[in-house]
Amino acid sequence: MAEAETKEKQVKPILPFLHVPENPDEKPYLAGNKCTSCGATYLGARMACSKCFSTEPMEEVKLSDKGELHVFSIVHQSAPGIPTPYVAAIVDLPEGVSVRCNIEGVEPDPKNLEFGMAVEMYTETVHTDSDGTETIAFKFRPAK
Ligand SMILES: [Zn+2]
Repeated sequence: MAEAETKEKQVKPILPFLHVPENPDEKPYLAGNKCTSCGATYLGARMACSKCFSTEPMEEVKLSDKGELHVFSIVHQSAPGIPTPYVAAIVDLPEGVSVRCNIEGVEPDPKNLEFGMAVEMYTETVHTDSDGTETIAFKFRPAK
């Protein structure tokens, strides 16, 4: 009984490059890999650098949770079960990484969005298992 009460809530990311720190006070973040030869940075793991073709092991880096809206599209038709409309976008992070994501927190209307606008990453629980394990996903929203 006591064991169940002290059991911590388990959180797992929906994608391998969304890292969840063990310390619950720290926010989940996107993990990148930085080429140790030329400094090019990529989202997630890479076997080789596509800029300098180095195959040396890459350095894992914590990517910024703030970026700029590079491009967006308002999606009106999607797969069955996916609510529309929604904003599909590519966000540029200061590390030189582009992230394919959805923009939430605004009505999906072009008048609310602007190329280059500041956006920030946040995470949301998208599923809870019967044992209470939460699966989280990342999204971006206009920066406050
Ligand atoms: Zn490189």
